[in-house]
Amino acid sequence: MLKVKNLHACVAENKSIKILNGLDLYIRKGEVHVIMGPNGGGKSTLANILMGRPSYEITNGEVEFNGKSILDLAPDARSHLGMFLAFQYPVEVPGVRPWQFLKASLDAKAEANREKKISVREFTKIFNQKVEEVGINSNLIKRSLNEGFSGGEKKRNEILQLQIINPLLAIMDETDSGLDIDALRIISDGINSMRSNQRSFLIVTHYQRLLNYVKPDFVHILVGGMIVDSGGPDLALKIENSGYKDYIK
Ligand code: ADP
Ligand code: MG
Repeated sequence: MLKVKNLHACVAENKSIKILNGLDLYIRKGEVHVIMGPNGGGKSTLANILMGRPSYEITNGEVEFNGKSILDLAPDARSHLGMFLAFQYPVEVPGVRPWQFLKASLDAKAEANREKKISVREFTKIFNQKVEEVGINSNLIKRSLNEGFSGGEKKRNEILQLQIINPLLAIMDETDSGLDIDALRIISDGINSMRSNQRSFLIVTHYQRLLNYVKPDFVHILVGGMIVDSGGPDLALKIENSGYKDYIK
């Protein structure tokens, strides 16, 4: 589903800041991959680049999604193909309510894929059901998107988006950070309920504790803009005990 080959990237405005230095990653349909690594290793940069954030320049390498090169596509076009990113720091969007935002997202996707748009009535039903499932306070969704939401509420809102947009590849950038145990459970349940043999996940996390709830197929260690080690869930346990010192030169 996702092929990242020898990806090199720098900051567009300052090309001397090289962040990704030959990164390889292959994700098949239905797999859950976890990326861990020290602060500043390039995890968020990778997530953002995959989704097409313009502030980075790709200097070498290739990214394919379902056999199609995507590096020339805008973020919305990537989304319409089935890619999704839950931000590490979700932005506030004044004047746009979560309902409107998600309805517009689905409509745009339907239009791009020449599919029928979901009716307001049907959408509202799904929206209300999912809002309840992810435990978002009904007062919150009357506000603008993420405006005045606490950190945990913003993360739940990312899960709401994941569930409603229904992507093929979900990239989750530290969606588990800063959550209390109840919220972590809800987020994990949200991810687990979306797992299927058609959908893949790329989950960036700092903490092994998420992996008590979400069992990955592969764990990768990202240091200095490269994947320096890969393994199964055991690798995360090893990191929990010994940190990243073995990987840092
Ligand atoms: P991680 O998510 O692994 O903690 P990031 O991908 O956020 O790491 O950042 C990797 C490195 O690149 C950091 O040193 C960060 O400061 C730097 N960096 C990322 N984006 C930019 C940018 N737009 N301008 C300058 N430096 C950046
Ligand atoms: Mg990050």
